[in-house]
Amino acid sequence: MKVVQCWDDGVINDIRLTELFRKYGAKATFNLNPGLMDPEKRAECFWRKQGEGTNNHNFGFAAGKLSHRDIAEIYSGFELASHCWRHENAGMVPDADWIKSALDARHFVEDIAQKPCLGFAWPCGLATPETVALLRENGFAYGRTTKTTFDVTDCPEPLAMAPSCRFNAPDFWDRYTKAKRTGVFYFWGHSYELFRYDEMWDNFEQMVKYISEDPDAEWANVIDIVPLLRTR
Ligand SMILES: [Zn+2]
Repeated sequence: MKVVQCWDDGVINDIRLTELFRKYGAKATFNLNPGLMDPEKRAECFWRKQGEGTNNHNFGFAAGKLSHRDIAEIYSGFELASHCWRHENAGMVPDADWIKSALDARHFVEDIAQKPCLGFAWPCGLATPETVALLRENGFAYGRTTKTTFDVTDCPEPLAMAPSCRFNAPDFWDRYTKAKRTGVFYFWGHSYELFRYDEMWDNFEQMVKYISEDPDAEWANVIDIVPLLRTR
């Protein structure tokens, strides 16, 4: 089974996360919004109290971002993908502005990676038929939504692909085991959700270690599972 993972928003905790992945030889894709990252300065993650600007998207956390200067070094050896320039939600800005933001983010990370970065993650999981078509016209290879599926490979529309679950899903291992029948397991998250919770970091490290040692599993990049999708 191919195991793929992606992490959104260019969060400062990606420093600790990428170190963990290097330790266990895990591959990962990071979906960035360069327009929300400062050219030079990093920002800290913090947790917002109830009622202070919490929303569904950030799970109560403010995402402290890495800076543009960090990207090349922190994400060296990992895949980068577009998550729109400033996290613009499809259908909530004019489509022409939206696709420009998706492309601006892609071109920014391609300049750093020095190769095509054709992956995409939908900000807040929101996709519309019009913006799916725009991604296709502009050569994107896949777009990850926030839905869940027991069979990632059963994917009529790779530009609105459903992953298996989030990294902290209560039924993570049930889905992992069932995915062995399909050949692909795909999880995702934001590293700010691990915040400074050492117990959660330790637990996640054990998960990564288990997958790395599982003889039935092999880490892959998200872009590499696209040819395995049954689009019919
Ligand atoms: Zn996001």
